[in-house]
Amino acid sequence: MDRGAAKGMEAIMQGNRNATPGVVIVGAGQAGARAAEAVRGAGYAGTITLIGAEAHMPYERPQLSKATLLEDGAPVIMIRDGEGWRALGVDVVPATRIVTGDAGRHVVVADDGREFPYDKLLIATGTTPRRLPAVEAGPLPVLPLRSIEDAQALRRHLAPGVRVAIVGGGVIGLEVAAAAVKAGATATVIEAAPGLLARALPPVVADFVKARHEREGVTFRLGRAPVGQSAAGVEIEGGETVPADVIVVGIGVEPELALARSLGAEIDQGILVDECGRTSVADVFAAGDVASRFCPWNGRVLRIETWANAQNQAAAAARTMVGEAMAYRDPPWFWSDQYDLNIQVVGHAAAPGTTVLRGDPATGRFSALTLAGGTVIGAVTVNAPKDMASLRRLVAAGRPLSAQEAGDTAFDLRKAATR
Ligand code: NAD
Repeated sequence: MDRGAAKGMEAIMQGNRNATPGVVIVGAGQAGARAAEAVRGAGYAGTITLIGAEAHMPYERPQLSKATLLEDGAPVIMIRDGEGWRALGVDVVPATRIVTGDAGRHVVVADDGREFPYDKLLIATGTTPRRLPAVEAGPLPVLPLRSIEDAQALRRHLAPGVRVAIVGGGVIGLEVAAAAVKAGATATVIEAAPGLLARALPPVVADFVKARHEREGVTFRLGRAPVGQSAAGVEIEGGETVPADVIVVGIGVEPELALARSLGAEIDQGILVDECGRTSVADVFAAGDVASRFCPWNGRVLRIETWANAQNQAAAAARTMVGEAMAYRDPPWFWSDQYDLNIQVVGHAAAPGTTVLRGDPATGRFSALTLAGGTVIGAVTVNAPKDMASLRRLVAAGRPLSAQEAGDTAFDLRKAATR
């Protein structure tokens, strides 16, 4: 630590708020907000500044592809309101986009030139939706889904008789398709890959999900990328036009790396961090969608784009910043709600390996476990949250499980997690 920073930390230890720059968190989404809470929760008495580009106080995002699309006027769930942040002693600075920083001077800079000095910095800048320029130019509205405003704008389009073309058959695309048909609209999902949710699900579960959507009236164009749009709809490879009144694009996200690059942090898909959220730059940490770490279940460095990772990796990084080092080692886990299906995914469920079904998909309630080297490296549950509670522990612990046990619904998975 240089002399300035050492002096700063000393003042912080004495509980002298405002005497030093303290902790600055850039990005006021799930990761940034939970980190701010965890910094204060760790007993830190100094200044905490939480800077976000959006105009709102930090809010929950899972609702945006679920309740916000399903009901008119669904309440927006904020992580805390302004009063809550004041009570915690966190200075929230909304509508402020940090664009660069200087690690030597310990300062980050907004696009309007304002400077924010820091003793410790957490980058939680997240991601932005990938764009599709070829489809954006034309008469039909093209909607992304990332923010409250995006979700509310999309909700206004979901009405009886409206033809919705959805580009991307991932989590966002399929949740939007379910919301569209529930609202009486028609939905066509255009996916460039041959299968749905290929990044997350083994084919047997992806096929089950597709069949369920088809029963609800959703149509699919798989393995054909969109190439343009006209008043008639979305033009896709092979010369077909998918009729549409509105186009939703959910083709993945890109990390917001500009600040990290300007500070000289090592990048490997995202901002590379260790188990405690430390980047390669002194006093700079990262967490959430923008950070990447080694994932033993996948055998490689990965960004984890999930709500749980944003919460928990951020909390570990926050504690490491102001107190004792805390490691975050949980396997990736997320859920998706489509119709009455609750789908939960842990670890690397889509890994090539042996997929063992547990229960019968025809009942609408089953799990699929992915085995490699005698352990479970990933799993999906469909309407089987109890299985998932055990599977999360099992995947994390890397305990042995045979294919026979995996497929036997009478075998108690809890036992395997603790043996
Ligand atoms: P995604 O990666 O899940 O799916 C994108 C899909 O688009 C993939 O199937 C991909 O093959 C396809 N695709 C890519 N380029 C295409 C093209 N040119 N034409 C057609 N298809 C194309 O991403 P998403 O669905 O956009 O989700 C975005 C983010 O939502 C996630 O990364 C994560 O941050 C968040 N998320 C949401 C949920 C949820 O809603 N339940 C859960 C976890 C995470």
